[in-house]
Amino acid sequence: MICARIVKSNNPLVIEDIPVPKPKNFEVLVRIKAAGICHSDLHLYEGGYMGAGGKFMKVEDRGVKFPLTPGHEVSGVIEDIGESVKHYQKGDKVLIYPWIGDEFCHSCKDGNEHLCESPKTLGIYQDGGYADLILVPNYKYLIKLEDIDFNSSAALACSGLTAYTSIKKSLAMPGETLVLIGAGGLGLMAVQIAKAITNSNIIIMDVDDEKLKEAKKLGADFTINSLSSDPVKAVKDLTNGKGCEVLVDFVNNNQTAPTAIEVLRKRGRYIMVGLFGGSLELNLPLVPLRAFNITGAYTGRYNDLVELVGLFKKRKLNSIVSRHYKIEEANQALEDLKNRKIVGRAVFTP
Ligand SMILES: [Zn+2]
Ligand SMILES: [Zn+2]
Repeated sequence: MICARIVKSNNPLVIEDIPVPKPKNFEVLVRIKAAGICHSDLHLYEGGYMGAGGKFMKVEDRGVKFPLTPGHEVSGVIEDIGESVKHYQKGDKVLIYPWIGDEFCHSCKDGNEHLCESPKTLGIYQDGGYADLILVPNYKYLIKLEDIDFNSSAALACSGLTAYTSIKKSLAMPGETLVLIGAGGLGLMAVQIAKAITNSNIIIMDVDDEKLKEAKKLGADFTINSLSSDPVKAVKDLTNGKGCEVLVDFVNNNQTAPTAIEVLRKRGRYIMVGLFGGSLELNLPLVPLRAFNITGAYTGRYNDLVELVGLFKKRKLNSIVSRHYKIEEANQALEDLKNRKIVGRAVFTP
């Protein structure tokens, strides 16, 4: 089988031809039809995240081991199954839930495998989807796709799931103002999910007019270009000077976090999602005085993904896949993503 692997951080991925694994017990071998290229793959490739004070947080200090085949947004067709697999058979079209845990820690026991204390995520802690085949450790991590196409469903496993969980966590009510920061793959999916499940007024901010135009098409009520206008004033103007009840920040960096705090109304909810890095200086008396709430959201539960696939089937959410690459073009794909050349999602189609 062909795969593109990170052998050493900050070095080009290496294309390798390795033996095809034979699934045992509960394992399932899936022939990959689409594998999304996620921004977090760039963090793996670069070896980490920028944390507070410009301190680099290495992924290898958090349990990632190279060489690794990245790719955690994978859909495909079952090629072979272990002898104990039930409910699934060869030829089934499936989406893979990649946020696998150790099944033992308190998060896993509570159904939150994506927040496992010792995660085993496909494409991060074990080999993922930058390949033509992938071995899934247990059939319980599969979701049947039926009539949804492989390309648009792949990104549901990560950006879609993260967008879905963050909008669910926002508890945005009808009539409330929900501000989304960032109109990339996540933000564009979040606009549609928010439109489908919240009935709130949706404002989206970005620095790119092309992305904002797309967001408007997908259901945003207002768009703000935070380069060409003052984002705080713009949100206040749209909310009678009061600010927004809810803000979901898909960028979450030095610039967006202070803006978010400023535009939040009293008792507002601020959900941090992006991993762009940086730190936030918080004026501490403001937290009690304005009684706002800050929380984080990272991917989501298996059941959330099942719900999202259901919503996708019913509402025909539009997962924007704008570019296709071959596995052999893995380095080019990551370069293009890094240089912001991709609107929506890009996928590998082996
Ligand atoms: Zn991802
Ligand atoms: Zn766990």
